[in-house]
Amino acid sequence: MPLNSDPNCIFCKIVAGQIPSTQVHRDESVMAFNDIRPLAPTHILVIPLEHVTFVNQTRAEDEKLIGHMVRVGGSVAQKAGIEKSGYRISINQGRDAGQELDHLHLHVLGGRPLGRSA
Ligand code: AMP
Ligand code: ZN
Repeated sequence: MPLNSDPNCIFCKIVAGQIPSTQVHRDESVMAFNDIRPLAPTHILVIPLEHVTFVNQTRAEDEKLIGHMVRVGGSVAQKAGIEKSGYRISINQGRDAGQELDHLHLHVLGGRPLGRSA
């Protein structure tokens, strides 16, 4: 397991290969895989390999990582063929956003009109 791994975290277990995932991208700092309960025809999650938690607990030195996550989100959207039709990249933070897992992740959603909330 990489540094800053939480043995109880589902996404850390996915990073370690202890829980299977349909991986669509992996590099030295992030990975991307299909969401198990997709909200749209394309629903991909982009996560750091390390157990970074909440947006408001990230540090200045995480800015490169977060920027990379967004760029990988764009790249997997392109690979999924939704670049032209459009997509949404979002982060859920806290109860009102319905956040379930505290390992930082971007949702990449597309493949249908998403309306103003999705
Ligand atoms: P959030 O509500 O932003 O915390 O999103 C967590 C997301 O993780 C949800 O959309 C879940 O469907 C997804 N999820 C939970 N467990 C898994 C898993 N084992 N593989 C893929 N996606 C998962
Ligand atoms: Zn984790």
